[in-house]
Amino acid sequence: MIPYGRQNISQADINEVIKVLKSDFITQGPTVPLFEQSVINSVKAKYACATNSATSALHLACLSLNLTEKDILWTSPISFVASANCGLYCGANIDFVDINPDTYNICIEQLEKKLRLALNINKLPKVVVCVHLGGQSCEMQQIKNLSEKYDFKIIEDASHALGGKYKGYRIGSCEYSDITVFSFHPVKIITTGEGGMAVTNDAELDFKLKLLRSHGISRHPDIMSKNDGPWYYEQLALGYNYRMTDIQAALGISQMARLDKFIKRRTDIAQHYNYHLARLPLRLPQIHPDNISAYHLYIIRLKMDKIGSDKKTIFKELKSSGLGINLHYIPIYRQPYFKQLYNYDFADFPESEKFYSEAISIPIFPEMTNRQLKQVTEVLSKVLCQ
Ligand SMILES: *Cc1c(COP(=O)(O)O)cnc(C)c1O
Repeated sequence: MIPYGRQNISQADINEVIKVLKSDFITQGPTVPLFEQSVINSVKAKYACATNSATSALHLACLSLNLTEKDILWTSPISFVASANCGLYCGANIDFVDINPDTYNICIEQLEKKLRLALNINKLPKVVVCVHLGGQSCEMQQIKNLSEKYDFKIIEDASHALGGKYKGYRIGSCEYSDITVFSFHPVKIITTGEGGMAVTNDAELDFKLKLLRSHGISRHPDIMSKNDGPWYYEQLALGYNYRMTDIQAALGISQMARLDKFIKRRTDIAQHYNYHLARLPLRLPQIHPDNISAYHLYIIRLKMDKIGSDKKTIFKELKSSGLGINLHYIPIYRQPYFKQLYNYDFADFPESEKFYSEAISIPIFPEMTNRQLKQVTEVLSKVLCQ
């Protein structure tokens, strides 16, 4: 079975991890800040807070933007559930904005329309989580303009997009957002096993992120109410243990050295597919001219009217022919947990529903061989053109 995604671990990665295992610090120690530095050097943001997952980083991002049970968070329904759960953790209400039919990211026209309506009924969101699906950035300039008009904060969920660019800026530069979050889960662009990071250009947000990452505890003389002695620390807020380990950070630093290589190989694979799948009854990914995608995913859409079969049958046939295909994602509003909370009307999200009925993620990962690539295109041709 060719998986849809897979980590790439080199001997150098292994050596770096072993070095940390033999050192004095294995949990958050001197290597975590070095990893944070390596990511901010790459994405050109000012501050970074490494965490034990992107889910934790999203939660911290919402908390540091003061999202509470009085507030509303909006995101795209075509994402992993964590993009919405971060708001639920803070007690906030969640709503969704339908996707753009070309990029499958949050639709600017729908966002603007929904904001206008929300203004009238006093239900504007405090935070909008923009998900860069598959590694392609949302239209951040337009979202930023709307955020100034309607007064909301922006979190970029860039779990798929490390190494991508928007209007020449690296994703994570936070040129158009308050905070950007990355994931280092094994299928993502680089990995630390489990891991995530929140980057920002705002010193105050960075301070809050780091305080809440570690129990809300500080030893900083400037912010403690007093100082009883060299043993002293204070808990100033209700934080969590969302720390990354030095073991993970060492792997992360070593992986960052291959980021450009990973993106290059992913781009080559995407170009191969663009060429070899062009004649099949499929809609292939469309990359907006403002974007350079990190190609975490390669999502194809079945042109159902040109295929004499249904999606379930095709999916099963592709799987049984050795393709570890997947679907990213089931619309979040369809999840039983969200349905029970809000009972969304699916008809409010026609593009997401259409996407759900047609989309399949096919294998793309740096270690994929040319032979595997050929196998994917051959199986797709056979299954779709029989
Ligand atoms: C993977 C992913 C997450 C969660 O990442 P973890 O590091 O596994 O917590 C969040 N959002 C999106 C869009 C993702 O793909």
